[in-house]
Amino acid sequence: MFNFAPCIISILAKISINIKDGSIKKADTIIGIDLGTTNSLVAVINTTNQQPICLSENAENIVPSIIYFAPDGTIRVGAAAKAHLIMDPQHTIYSVKRLLGRSYTDIQSHANSYGYKIIEDETKAMVRVEMNGKFYNPIELSSYILKALKANAEKALNTSIKKAVITVPAYFNDSQRQATRDAGKLAGLDVLRIVNEPTAASLAYGIGLNKEEEKCIAVYDLGGGTFDITLLRIQQGVFEVLSTNGDTYTGGDDFDRVIVEQWCQSIGVLIGTIEKNKSLYQQLRLEAERVKKELSSKNFVDCELEIEGRKHYFKYTIKQFNLAIQAIIDKTIDCCKRALQDAGISLKEIDEVVMVGGSTRVPLVIECVKAFFQKENLHNELDPDEVVALGAAIEADILAGNRKDLLLLDVTPLSLGIETIGGLMDTIIPRNSKVPQKAGRQYTTSVDGQTNLKIAVYQGERELVNDNRKLGEFILNNIPAMPAGFPKIDIQFLLNADGILKVNATELRSNTMQEIAIKPQYGLTDQEVESMLLASFEHAESDMAARLLVESKTEAEQLIYQCNKLLNANATFLTESEVLETEQLLSQLRKAIAEDNRDAINMQTERLNEYTRPFAERLMDSAIGNALTGKKLDAL
Ligand code: ADP
Ligand code: MG
Repeated sequence: MFNFAPCIISILAKISINIKDGSIKKADTIIGIDLGTTNSLVAVINTTNQQPICLSENAENIVPSIIYFAPDGTIRVGAAAKAHLIMDPQHTIYSVKRLLGRSYTDIQSHANSYGYKIIEDETKAMVRVEMNGKFYNPIELSSYILKALKANAEKALNTSIKKAVITVPAYFNDSQRQATRDAGKLAGLDVLRIVNEPTAASLAYGIGLNKEEEKCIAVYDLGGGTFDITLLRIQQGVFEVLSTNGDTYTGGDDFDRVIVEQWCQSIGVLIGTIEKNKSLYQQLRLEAERVKKELSSKNFVDCELEIEGRKHYFKYTIKQFNLAIQAIIDKTIDCCKRALQDAGISLKEIDEVVMVGGSTRVPLVIECVKAFFQKENLHNELDPDEVVALGAAIEADILAGNRKDLLLLDVTPLSLGIETIGGLMDTIIPRNSKVPQKAGRQYTTSVDGQTNLKIAVYQGERELVNDNRKLGEFILNNIPAMPAGFPKIDIQFLLNADGILKVNATELRSNTMQEIAIKPQYGLTDQEVESMLLASFEHAESDMAARLLVESKTEAEQLIYQCNKLLNANATFLTESEVLETEQLLSQLRKAIAEDNRDAINMQTERLNEYTRPFAERLMDSAIGNALTGKKLDAL
């Protein structure tokens, strides 16, 4: 679609003047990179028409993500390396993206499917590959591909490139994202942003560029070795991932494999014997790929194969091909169903479907996706190989500040909330909320007769306030003494358009009120925001565990408090054995708390709760029931 013609490309010529010394600096070109499992591409914005365009060295935009280690020590990347898959598979590395940020344990079950040697290492460290007696990790390997793309772009644009945006699948975890970033660094690139591939693909179709627009998008990405379906909600220029699903071992390569299987069957040779001969298998696989590509625009292909010295001629039809691949496509459709379920949305809510990846050129794939999503039209006008790179270039352009209106200044980058009992963060305004914004919630006290409340305001994504940034605190005092759980404390956050936060706390029963103004953004640089976000992804699992433990402990302590109250005030109301049993259960629960054992805490809480529930009912003390519900704030 976008043909590369060097003469029409003018690089981003944004100029800045240093006021101190009057020097003029030309803004750096930022490239967008799709670092794919099978193929990689690089794109920039053509400043003559503001359209993204893929760059290439020799008219071929696609750089196969393949690295060849020649016996003489040279390293070749791309098309030059692809040829060696047949001649020298042991020294030709493909699908390195699958290894990025992963340990041997992660990929163990598929270790045999690689033609090259992956070091068996039982540790949690990143996998390594052995090549000519040297060890390489996937970050280094990916950096070779990135270096090649950078060099292509530099040659095409005739300028040096230092900055890039790199795309990754939406499901990439933090270590995979970090590894991608590091690969960029190793290739001499300052990676300004890691962007989700489905987000980039949507941007390439202009989806999300209009801030008024609110849409649900399905991005169906069938590449060479992987399938991803991502459901996005785009609102106010914010791309929210609703769900992702897919199969990291399903893709166009499987189409090639089933074609080879079909051929072997019809010729009467065992696929097992062919597979043992790695170079013959690769040869047949590449031939199958060629035939498959032709079948995207033809009904049959005349084939000529040479197996074990015998030549075979036959006609391979689209009908045979469709039969062979139906099961694989069905698998991808199952993933789409699951993605919808996980997102909790119905088919009808999907406004648009974006097709990504070379394999979405296969007519049966298009047909099945249309049928499943009940759409007459899909977004497949752009080259499905290029869309991700093109979108990455648009993102790069946004970051370069060339699309000011898209700076997304109208959202709060980090969540705002208050500290609740146990040091937990309770988010009141979630990140990416548009400003101005007003939100509030009601809280209550945890101790009888509490007359003061500390309200501490935090910003960040972590579960524990200690890991977030404190913005300020104030005290709500003069609350009339009431039993725990009785006061109704209403906390309102008002974030105005300048990013100034006003916090207002009112005790509704007595109408006691306090208010403070806090400026949340103060002193936080973009980098700090980013690193806090990254930290929240990085620690999501351990944070969740910590939060669950704190919640269990808090609940347990509340119950202990109530039970003690019950025992002290109403000992006569209970039989001696009931008192004894309660005390025993209490001590078991305290022991579980002391051991930080969440399962034991939950179990003992449940037991104590079960046992004492009838007493509480007998007492009909509504304060107890009240105190056991709602979020509580610490006493001063
Ligand atoms: P990845 O994102 O995994 O790097 P790509 O999106 O580049 O992969 O897709 C590569 C796959 O697309 C390969 O399996 C290739 O055979 C397939 N492909 C490319 N062109 C066509 C075509 N015209 N018809 C069918 N499949 C194609
Ligand atoms: Mg891809």
